[in-house]
Amino acid sequence: MTVLVLGDQLVREVGPIAERPDERVLMIEARAFAHRLPYHPHKLTLVFSAMRHFRDKLRAAGRQVEYRQAETFGEGLASHFEAHPGDELAVMRPASHGAARRLRELIEREDGSVDVVDNSLFLCSRADFDTWIDNRSTPYRHEEFYRFMRRETDYLMDGDRPVGGTWNFDQENREFPGPEHEPPDPPRFSPDDLTRDVAEWVDETFDGSYDGPPYGGDWADPESFRWPVTREDALAMLDGFVEERLVAFGPYQDAMLDGEWAMNHALLSPALNLGLLRPAEAVEAVIAAGESDPDIPLNSVEGFVRQIIGWREFVRHVYRTTMPGLADANQLDADADLPEWYWTGETDMACLSDTIASVRERGYSHHVQRLMLLSNFALLYGVDPRQLNRWFHAGYVDAYHWVTTPNVVEMGSYGAGVFATKPYAASANYVSRMSDYCPDCPYDPDETTGDGACPFNALYWDFLDRNEIDLRRNPRMALMYSYLDDADSQAIRDRVRTLRRMEKDGEL
Ligand code: FAD
Ligand code: SF4
Repeated sequence: MTVLVLGDQLVREVGPIAERPDERVLMIEARAFAHRLPYHPHKLTLVFSAMRHFRDKLRAAGRQVEYRQAETFGEGLASHFEAHPGDELAVMRPASHGAARRLRELIEREDGSVDVVDNSLFLCSRADFDTWIDNRSTPYRHEEFYRFMRRETDYLMDGDRPVGGTWNFDQENREFPGPEHEPPDPPRFSPDDLTRDVAEWVDETFDGSYDGPPYGGDWADPESFRWPVTREDALAMLDGFVEERLVAFGPYQDAMLDGEWAMNHALLSPALNLGLLRPAEAVEAVIAAGESDPDIPLNSVEGFVRQIIGWREFVRHVYRTTMPGLADANQLDADADLPEWYWTGETDMACLSDTIASVRERGYSHHVQRLMLLSNFALLYGVDPRQLNRWFHAGYVDAYHWVTTPNVVEMGSYGAGVFATKPYAASANYVSRMSDYCPDCPYDPDETTGDGACPFNALYWDFLDRNEIDLRRNPRMALMYSYLDDADSQAIRDRVRTLRRMEKDGEL
């Protein structure tokens, strides 16, 4: 019997590894996946370094670990079964669609067997979600799921009532900071020798990662890597968030400031998605801080809890129950190519240039930048959601198919209409209200047509116009369509034609 630990299940406290403390552990470091997409080097460094640190920590704790490096996962398994014929493996269910079935097939091909158990890195089990959704008249409503999860977990509950008298403080979480607000610097985890070796190996082995020449970049410099690769670092990241940034997390959750790539966000998704941190510990640390520190407002605590026990769990189950269709969903028939500057960051649009610079530098941008800038622009421009999904998947350190796909294809691109009740489409008005980008931008957020008008504006009206058959009947879009009726549609079409030509000529 062997416990199989997958690369995004680096947890010792729960699951088969905790339940079978005397069993051998198998880890397979397969590299073929890393050639399939032009991954950001920091993503690859993070995954491989975290795996190797986990191996070393286990060994130091006295566990027998067989760490097999192979080209493919199948080859790693074959060498395991050569050494241990007929072995039985125990593993937590992988989050990726079809991965459990493929794993079973590979193991049975080697005459082994496998016990796939529930994945303890999520709070809501498959069975609980399936029962919940079976009892819904309107399926896939996040707010209802979130309330269900609050009751199930008893987080922020006062008996059967939500603490503070309301479930959701979203209205209080749309503030824009004054000039005195300076988000504290987030912790940076300097790479140790192991991480430096991995970063150099990634640079040599996956040359051309992310976008490669001619874009250059100093990602290969191991010192530029900043993410936690061990549980200790992940816990330090959580502490840093709770102590310094949680207090203003709620109010400024939707705000964007030029050059402030982290704002007051937690930066915990890379660690959570690798298993270095469990969702329950993050939520419980935040709730405890809210209870003991009167300066931390309830809207910050509740806002964070909702992201973790609500959105994160929700998108995981949306993905699980709507794949494989979700990955190719494209209900608006968007077929434009992703602009090249998503890779290079070479655009005059100040908001997108700053956001893409952050992705290029560290494989991260915060949620509002992902949704209201990067996805919003692609949505308005009519980019094929599969191309956008591929870009997010390659560029972000926290990207895994189970979480990127529902966020990009459904939330960002309105690809399937599973849980999004309308597209997250917005003009420059939104960006101008929620950021400080526009004053320094060569484009004018108040203009829709004519040279120098902000591209978001004409593209926004053109998006409504192009998708009228699908969207006008949506009651949540009625107001915007009433404005469209008064717009100068010829001038808008002309402006959009110019913008598309500028994009082709690299002038946008
Ligand atoms: P915070 O803003 O501090 O939020 C705290 C935590 O809540 C996050 O760490 C994350 O675990 C969870 N969370 C919040 N919103 C979501 C959500 N919509 N889906 C899942 N978890 C959520 N998240 C990823 O983990 N990987 C991705 O590849 C990813 N791609 C995205 C692509 C798009 C287009 C959009 C709109 C969102 C995407 N998200 C993704 C969700 C969210 O943007 C990130 O989880 C968040 O920005 C991570 O940064 P943070 O830890 O500072 O988050
Ligand atoms: Fe972005 Fe338009 Fe504002 Fe420029 S003017 S920063 S492109 S929203």
